[in-house]
Amino acid sequence: MSKDKKPKSKIFINKEFCKGCGFCVEFCKKGVLVLSNSYCDSGYHFPEVIKNNCVGCYTCEIVCPDFAIKVEKL
Ligand code: SF4
Ligand code: SF4
Repeated sequence: MSKDKKPKSKIFINKEFCKGCGFCVEFCKKGVLVLSNSYCDSGYHFPEVIKNNCVGCYTCEIVCPDFAIKVEKL
């Protein structure tokens, strides 16, 4: 049974900064992110939020080498 918890934080993705390295996807222990099948204007796959269970750990923001992802605590 899944509990409908309120998200603890919000993820902002600036896809035009993203280079599609996938670090944010790989290092998120909660499986919040996947790389999109779509491309940004620069030709890279960018991350998308697929789950509502972000815990606001900032890992994705810290590992992103291109400052393309930001975490805001709610
Ligand atoms: S803040 Fe943490 S839990 Fe939320 S998307 Fe980033 S790595 Fe995942
Ligand atoms: S870590 Fe940054 S550059 Fe790499 S896929 Fe994620 S948002 Fe894009």
